[in-house]
Amino acid sequence: MTRRLVPWAFFPDEEASSIFEVDYGSLQESEKEAVLFDLDNTIARWGEDDLSEKVIGLLDEIVGLGFKVGILTNSKKKKVKSFVESLPYPCQFNAQKPRRKNFFSLLDRMEVEPSRAVMVGDQLLTDVLGANRAGLYSIRVEPIERGREFSFTAVNRLIEDLLFSLRDLFRIIKRFKY
Ligand SMILES: [Mg+2]
Repeated sequence: MTRRLVPWAFFPDEEASSIFEVDYGSLQESEKEAVLFDLDNTIARWGEDDLSEKVIGLLDEIVGLGFKVGILTNSKKKKVKSFVESLPYPCQFNAQKPRRKNFFSLLDRMEVEPSRAVMVGDQLLTDVLGANRAGLYSIRVEPIERGREFSFTAVNRLIEDLLFSLRDLFRIIKRFKY
């Protein structure tokens, strides 16, 4: 497993505006076998209890490409849990991202090595940081809807904005150094 320097552990390997804009073909070319998705604000609107037909269609397409699909979420909500559990994808609720434990246990169940897996999620401090720490390839997507979230997440968003600004600043400084 390649360990990243601490500040870079917060940043994704790739960014996309939504799950529909991710280039799944190129993930296949880099021999990834599984795609894990975050739930709230990545594949589902926050506070909604099911997934749209369009999202389910995309997940089916990804499976059609030959990937295993899993859902890894910090949510504990019972209603959405029963819906997601009715889908044919392995899922882990109350995942406690950015802790690595449940990345490993879900991937174990799916029989995929972390280095062959991709995590797609909307939050740097949970999805991206957790995936990077566990040795997965990380893709950050824009949240489906900002603002309609848990107040705890709103604090995370402020920290994310700060981290992105810092990264931009580092990039500018680097450009001047060489
Ligand atoms: Mg999320």
